[in-house]
Amino acid sequence: VSRAIGVDLGGSHVMAVLVGEDGALGKKHELDLDDLAPGVVIQALESVVKDALKDADDDVVAIGIGSPGNVDASSGTITFSPNFGWHDVPLGALVRDLFPKYSVFVGNDARCATLGEYVYGVGQGTDDFALLTLGTGIGGGFVVRGVLALGHKMGAGEVGHHQIRPDTGFVCSCGKIGCFEAQASGTGLLRHAFRLAPSFPRSTLLDTPRERLGSKAIRRLAQSGDQHALTAWNAFCDDLALGIANLVAFVNPEVIALGGGVSSAGDFLLDRVRPLVDARTTMVPRGTTRIVRATLGNDAGAVGAATAARRGGLIAKPSALSPVG
Ligand SMILES: [Zn+2]
Repeated sequence: VSRAIGVDLGGSHVMAVLVGEDGALGKKHELDLDDLAPGVVIQALESVVKDALKDADDDVVAIGIGSPGNVDASSGTITFSPNFGWHDVPLGALVRDLFPKYSVFVGNDARCATLGEYVYGVGQGTDDFALLTLGTGIGGGFVVRGVLALGHKMGAGEVGHHQIRPDTGFVCSCGKIGCFEAQASGTGLLRHAFRLAPSFPRSTLLDTPRERLGSKAIRRLAQSGDQHALTAWNAFCDDLALGIANLVAFVNPEVIALGGGVSSAGDFLLDRVRPLVDARTTMVPRGTTRIVRATLGNDAGAVGAATAARRGGLIAKPSALSPVG
């Protein structure tokens, strides 16, 4: 047996956990991040990894880190991370210096989550798979014929920033208008509710202070029949379906898994979105793409990072890389 430490590095916290070869998780060790300077973040990372290593015997072989931003997975350098404000931070090299006994891997968090969900979650048994994480943004990744797509400059899978409403949409954190994540993330659902407010002058939906009004609150109200919330929910689902149908056209997955906070809506989300995706699907037979809930939840990134560290890269299906014939 060989186990690995999986690290989930986010803009507000860092978590390390021991991950078994079967994907089983040990205890999670977390620290909040207030200061995002590389030195401070790496110190916190070192501390949680050391704690996670204490849970293991001497069978840990590798440390895998999933980080937001554009990551050169071959070196582990964070080329650019808007969340951290980092440019060319050699995270992999710095962590290797701290833990010379272990092989160290750093990859983009959404691609790591895609690998985790593919190997241990709902992607199992498929060759063509996509994960969309619907949270404050939209992260994603896709596996094509058993290979996780990385792209020329590690940018494959950045589906959150394809524009679906360039004329009428919301401003995205990346500067463009109407990106998929501006429209169809949890934040997008909130923005739909605010945009629609003038049409619902008697609505009490937005009486809740903005910092306490989450996407979940709007979804729950939509489920209970609140007209303002329901109209926002339906506009959100239209935009989500538009982006998913584009994904079907790009890579024709067998399974598209929806993760992140918004996916906790379950069938209320899926029953609405599936027929809308079908209606926009023109070049493959309708109903042949299964849209389901992801199963690993917030653990997918750490599980995938540990898996990549153990496999020596974002390798979805080891056999897919074997020479043919
Ligand atoms: Zn964008």
